[in-house]
Amino acid sequence: MAKQYREVIDRARSSGRTYLMEHESKAVLERLGITTTGTGVARTEDDAVEIFSALDCPVAMKVLSPDVVHKSDAGGVKLNLKNGDEVRSAYREIVTAFSGKRLEGVSVQKMARPGVEAIVGVANDATFGPVLMFGLGGVFVEVLKDVSFRSIPISSSDAKDMIEEIKGYALLRGYRGYSSDINALEKLLLSVSDFVMDNPDISEMDLNPVFLYPEGYMVVDARIILGDPRPEPPEAKKQDLHDLFYPKSIAVIGASGTPGKLGWNVFTNLVSHKFRGKLYPINPRADEICGCKAYPCISAVPEPVDVAIILVSAGVTPDVVEECCKCGIRYIVVESAGFAELGEEGLKIELQMKEIADRYGVRLLGPNCSGIINTHCSMVQSIGIVDALSMGNIGLVSQAGVCAAGMLWGLRHIMDFGIIATIGNKLDINETDIMEAVSKDEFINVICMYLESVKGGRRFIDAAKRITRNKPIVVLKSGRTDAGKKAVASHTASMAGNDQIFSAVFRQSGIIRARDYEHMFNLARIISKQPFPNREGVFIITYAGSLGVIAADAIIDNGMRLSELEPQNKERLKKLLPDYVCGMNPVDYTFSQDAETVKRTIEIGVDSDDVGSFIVVLQAEILDSYVDALKSINYKGKPIIACVAGKEFAMPDVIKMENAGIPVVSTPEQVADALGIMYRHYKQVKGQEPQA
Ligand code: ADP
Ligand code: MG
Repeated sequence: MAKQYREVIDRARSSGRTYLMEHESKAVLERLGITTTGTGVARTEDDAVEIFSALDCPVAMKVLSPDVVHKSDAGGVKLNLKNGDEVRSAYREIVTAFSGKRLEGVSVQKMARPGVEAIVGVANDATFGPVLMFGLGGVFVEVLKDVSFRSIPISSSDAKDMIEEIKGYALLRGYRGYSSDINALEKLLLSVSDFVMDNPDISEMDLNPVFLYPEGYMVVDARIILGDPRPEPPEAKKQDLHDLFYPKSIAVIGASGTPGKLGWNVFTNLVSHKFRGKLYPINPRADEICGCKAYPCISAVPEPVDVAIILVSAGVTPDVVEECCKCGIRYIVVESAGFAELGEEGLKIELQMKEIADRYGVRLLGPNCSGIINTHCSMVQSIGIVDALSMGNIGLVSQAGVCAAGMLWGLRHIMDFGIIATIGNKLDINETDIMEAVSKDEFINVICMYLESVKGGRRFIDAAKRITRNKPIVVLKSGRTDAGKKAVASHTASMAGNDQIFSAVFRQSGIIRARDYEHMFNLARIISKQPFPNREGVFIITYAGSLGVIAADAIIDNGMRLSELEPQNKERLKKLLPDYVCGMNPVDYTFSQDAETVKRTIEIGVDSDDVGSFIVVLQAEILDSYVDALKSINYKGKPIIACVAGKEFAMPDVIKMENAGIPVVSTPEQVADALGIMYRHYKQVKGQEPQA
């Protein structure tokens, strides 16, 4: 079927307009099958009366002018006009009030019967392109900013989530005789999403208000803003990044034998971690570095090189890149700094490098990064000296090198990384490329990302959606302030804060958004060691009553509940309990709690169908005595997290517990928060169709 509505859009375009007035916008919507009040256009007083008579009901009249976007602000909306005289005077008043503007006419439309006021809109996000907004009208939008966003296109489950996510959802389900047709609303959201997908030149839209009824809805006001057609997202480069992560040979250009130099750090890291491949230091002033024969330039290396790490100054880097390309090297890691992060000059050098790499079809990581660590091939390319690492299942993608190196020194005691990739200025390889590559790695079970920005938002969403079905992704996104508000015509666009869009997109793609640095590593650590809870019942075992009560409150705050043992399991538990213990969940053993009792209690919970996860509150000073017992339990896929108040003063035992696979956190709230996030993630992922 031809897109009939295009006539309306094209007509506006040909008269040089990008704003579709209400009658035009509604005409477009009607042709999409969206219910609106419709509107007649009166160009004289008599016209207005004629339209009114034909409608045979009270009418609203509004100014129609290409110069007036917000009609009621200037007195351009007259409501509930019931007879010819009222219609005539409304017409005259509107014409007089807008005598200075170009006047298309006055719209005459039937009064919509009252309903729950909602707003549906479209804005264009700098990172993710078109986004859809939904919220309730009036104070809900204006004061409470109670709106939800999703990146377009949305799925029907996105539409459902958008509606359920707002705080005013309870009002939609029914309040004081009002209720709303949620199905019809979902369809409306999907139609708008489809329309925007089909028409890349739609920039913003406001359907405001939409009245929601127990059956159906009515679009009462509408505006559409046209823009330049959205550019097609660039195709992802086909070249697989496997060899970048598992090279057989590495050349370090700018390797140095002088301790303290970055070229020394990088090469020493590769040597001391015993990289399983060949190493070629490149330095015209050295014969040998760290026991490896040095070469004056890359072209002097007699054997094929998979990856070149470049550490020379920014100015000469493009020449070195070209030399590497000529030698047939397919992956280049530029760790040198002094590029776009410094300004115009640096950016120029970057673009030069990009042009060279693209010309040769070579993939380039950085510049201004700290390379890649892959513990599964003992490869450490970091710019800072890195101590011994064990092979792990966490993949960390980090924009800033410092973030990866500095914290690693401590975290390596309690969490095991597989891959740590720093992306620096993202000249060629960006976070999405790395995320996809890391997700394909058989050793990686959880992906953790620290991001300051996202390049090519649409591809990021699609990739993340695919990946999170199999491997969880935890993201910390910083730079949460609004990225400079630009002038916008629609209400929706003025509401669309950059950070809120990120949150929406993360939810839509199944990404877990961390609140802060510590939260990100806590979640990644717990998820890397424990399975997801697949039911909401939580079993709490404690030695301190208060911590048990706090945990019980906190799990409820996080959308879970206390589990209830079956009668036969209660009987088993009773036999374990000393007579002064009354509760069965939390089970409070007071200071008589010991490892054997905790183990037997957990085993009862493992057998209970209502237990989805465990919280054990353990005494810091005797933490060591629990390690073996907790390690020996067959949990049958149910997660456990230990809560140890004062854990920071018992680090050696915490490390033992962590190495036994049991995550330790310091407060009951932190345990409950993590379990809640994991349970929600489990439900969301389970709700998606299995991967094709
Ligand atoms: P604006 O350009 O100022 O957004 P609107 O068309 O939204 O103008 O009109 C302002 C208000 O008037 C609406 O929020 C709605 O409450 C009311 N209104 C407008 N048109 C109608 C109508 N056809 N039926 C009932 N109420 C209407
Ligand atoms: Mg309006």
